[in-house]
Amino acid sequence: MRAQHTEASLPTASALELVLKCAASAALPAVYTAYEAADEGTDLHATTQRVARTGEAPSDERTAAIVEKLPAWAAEAGTEAAFAYDVRADTGRYLGANLHHVYNQTPQEFAGAADWSRHSDGLVRVLDLKTGRTETPRARRNWQVRTLGLAFARAANADGAEVSILHAPPEGTPWLDVAVLDAFALEEVADGLRTAASRIRAERDAVRKGETPRLTVGEHCRHCKARFSCPAWAGATDRALGLKDATPAQRYEALKQLEAVVRDVKRRVYEDARAERIDLGGGRYFGVHATTERELAGAVVYDVVRELHGEEAARIATSFDASFAAIERAVRPYAVKRGDLSALKERVTAAVTARGGLKTRETREIGEYEEGT
Ligand code: SF4
Repeated sequence: MRAQHTEASLPTASALELVLKCAASAALPAVYTAYEAADEGTDLHATTQRVARTGEAPSDERTAAIVEKLPAWAAEAGTEAAFAYDVRADTGRYLGANLHHVYNQTPQEFAGAADWSRHSDGLVRVLDLKTGRTETPRARRNWQVRTLGLAFARAANADGAEVSILHAPPEGTPWLDVAVLDAFALEEVADGLRTAASRIRAERDAVRKGETPRLTVGEHCRHCKARFSCPAWAGATDRALGLKDATPAQRYEALKQLEAVVRDVKRRVYEDARAERIDLGGGRYFGVHATTERELAGAVVYDVVRELHGEEAARIATSFDASFAAIERAVRPYAVKRGDLSALKERVTAAVTARGGLKTRETREIGEYEEGT
């Protein structure tokens, strides 16, 4: 589950980098999407946390490289511990572990979870692992770990916090950056968070009144979940396409033209890639590359599993798939003269229907159609 900002809650610590560039990103309606890369990152976090805790041998090079960079204290640390910092009371609290982004913080609190955290010898430590390609600010300027460090320090009555970033992009060598925040540095973070909270409230007020919030457009917009509702982007797209005062029908026609353009560009990119792979930089290429897929023959799997484990297991290991086209292929050899094929197909379909093997499901989708069809 992904936490969403509500009118009442402040954004999570991981969103602060963006929020401090453009507070409107925490005020406009957001669209949350799940990406495969994000799921991969979650798996990698869980694996490295387990390997660091148990000392088991890493099963792949990337995990090994990350674990090698981890500081020694991570082996004894807690993982996925969530903390909240209250901007009005200037206090911090521990919320629990493995909360999966559901923090239930008060309206005055910024909350977030640390991949690794530990409190020992009067010092609190937090470490965040980044596994994506996006550039990550160094620990001393990183709002996510600074906020977590502040919340943890206030919760533990500690005067300072050690905050670390371990960045392990898919390509390249992981780097670890550590910063120690003393009492003054923590106060500076607290100040920044108070400012962020009041700017967010101001922009939310503007949106509530139907006014346009203050927008700061830039490279950071790529990561903004509110981009689809942002007037800066909607306006820019309409202006670029000449659709400012377009009717729905004109927008639809423009969409068809755009799709044709995209198809054309795609065709040319694929032609180029087929002739020679395209160098995208950073060790990435777009071009022909071999992958191996293993395909099981259903009938053989069925026989083998039935011999070894019986009928029930064989049915679980395989699946039945049917279609009208497959029925036609199956009965075609039994059709002797013209017209037989349709009759044979209808006979099979009628028998299947009689045994409850044909279900009709209505689906509704948006598409172009002619009246009466
Ligand atoms: S898309 Fe950019 S300008 Fe618009 S709200 Fe998000 S960060 Fe701000």
